[in-house]
Amino acid sequence: MPEQPPAERVRNFSAVALGYTLENVRRESERCLMCTDPKCIAGCPVRANIPAFIRKICEGNYRGAYDVLTLDNLLPAICGRVCPQESQCEAVCTVGETLEPVAVGRLERWVGDHAIEQGWHNTPSIEPNGFRVAIVGSGPAGMACAADLARAGCEVVIYEALQVPGGVLRYGIPEFRLPNSVIDAEINNLKKLGVRIECNTLVGRLFTIEQMIKEMGFHAVFIGTGAGSPRFMGIPGESFSGVMSANELLTRCNLMQAGRFPEFDTPLHLGRRVVVIGAGNTAMDAMRVSLRLGAAKVYCVYRRSQAECPARLEELHHAEEEGVEFHWLTAPVEILGDDQGNVRGLRNIRMELGQPDESGRGCPVPVAGSEYEFEADMVVYAIGTQANPIIGQTSNIRLNKWGYIATDENLATSLAGVYAGGDIVTGAATVIKAMGAGRKAAGGIKAFLGIVESDSVYDPAPARDNWLFGIAPEQSNLVRVRLDAAQGSGNSGEEACHGRA
Ligand code: FAD
Repeated sequence: MPEQPPAERVRNFSAVALGYTLENVRRESERCLMCTDPKCIAGCPVRANIPAFIRKICEGNYRGAYDVLTLDNLLPAICGRVCPQESQCEAVCTVGETLEPVAVGRLERWVGDHAIEQGWHNTPSIEPNGFRVAIVGSGPAGMACAADLARAGCEVVIYEALQVPGGVLRYGIPEFRLPNSVIDAEINNLKKLGVRIECNTLVGRLFTIEQMIKEMGFHAVFIGTGAGSPRFMGIPGESFSGVMSANELLTRCNLMQAGRFPEFDTPLHLGRRVVVIGAGNTAMDAMRVSLRLGAAKVYCVYRRSQAECPARLEELHHAEEEGVEFHWLTAPVEILGDDQGNVRGLRNIRMELGQPDESGRGCPVPVAGSEYEFEADMVVYAIGTQANPIIGQTSNIRLNKWGYIATDENLATSLAGVYAGGDIVTGAATVIKAMGAGRKAAGGIKAFLGIVESDSVYDPAPARDNWLFGIAPEQSNLVRVRLDAAQGSGNSGEEACHGRA
């Protein structure tokens, strides 16, 4: 795929990978064998019908390709850019057994982008079913859940703490990997389904999950609040000025436009020599953003070897090309400061890999006497995140021992009618896994509410004594309406049932 040259792109925020041309798309799609037993579908967390969409491309039916893709994946232009296809659909591609696998992600991206250019979207005619569902968090899990429920006829409201929707797609992943215009276009499609998005609304502070069900008239709630709380190591020196989390750095850049000072009055005091601790996708983004914001030197410190680096290969390759200096098998032991309280360097220790740990990767062990220092004036932590505690602190929802929301296999939480999915359940994962969870929870919510669709793969919720349509009477305004109707006190119950199969 054509790319901006490293020396040029390292000083701008425009897209690095420029996307396939129509000619590239035609040639690549013809490499697909259209296997009768396609492993790529099983390799995709949302089971997108990959051979079917590629067949449509081969036929020159690009709208058809888009229609097939969006049956399973609401966000093709986004997933085509950020999904780790090399470890999912492309990893099991039959062509890949002997040659380069078919570039499914690049084809998907092209179809998604082409649909945006053409203004295509799939908005079915929706018959309202009278149910109201609230979604907490507008990341990929919340968006996918909202889309499925809106298509089923529910009135859906998304509550988002930040000033713009999109979750990590917006505040974490930088524009040169995922342009805001692409996120905007996909969110507009969600709005066309009738989904309302209320930003600047921190659930747990303005109102609680229990209030949403008991007082605000929602029949079900989905929690997709992600895992945005940063982790630190607890080594000496973390309180020096110049230490921050990658999420803070990226949010300041992506949401607060730190790179566009003085046009935007929210500058970031960026160091000349920036050290990023960690080597996942977040670390790669933090390093590449630091270079674009003007850092003269950017180092990556990671305690395992390059072979264990959790970032996508493409991101690692791009960071290397842009000049990041990697210190593999190295762990920081102390952040050094000057007498003004500012970061002046990092003391590290070399590591070697010992016996595999529970992740199957060699366990990093310090090499005695190998400590060394180097100069730096900014240290950025990208060693993982954890659940934001607000929802757990303000509701009676059950959490697991790591502080994530505990669910059953249909993603139902310990509170009746409340479902959860994405990073807030699994811990930090991927966009497509979060979307898969959002869709699964939507299936669980539909079953809970008794919404039966012909393509539903979820068993309806078991009938409960004294519950109507699976909803506890005291929890639902709609049930009250229905009970009134059943008792002959009005006809609104009939209206409320309208549209249910
Ligand atoms: P999120 O995307 O985190 O969205 C949660 C939303 O909920 C946020 O908008 C948040 O503001 C909101 N929220 C939180 N609490 C509340 C509250 N109390 N009230 C209201 N709203 C609330 N994955 C990939 O597949 N490919 C990549 O290349 C990739 N790169 C990444 C780069 C970075 C920098 C990061 C941080 C992650 C990356 N990931 C990547 C991981 C991926 O983005 C996440 O796994 C995914 O976004 C999780 O989706 P989610 O919907 O569960 O949560």
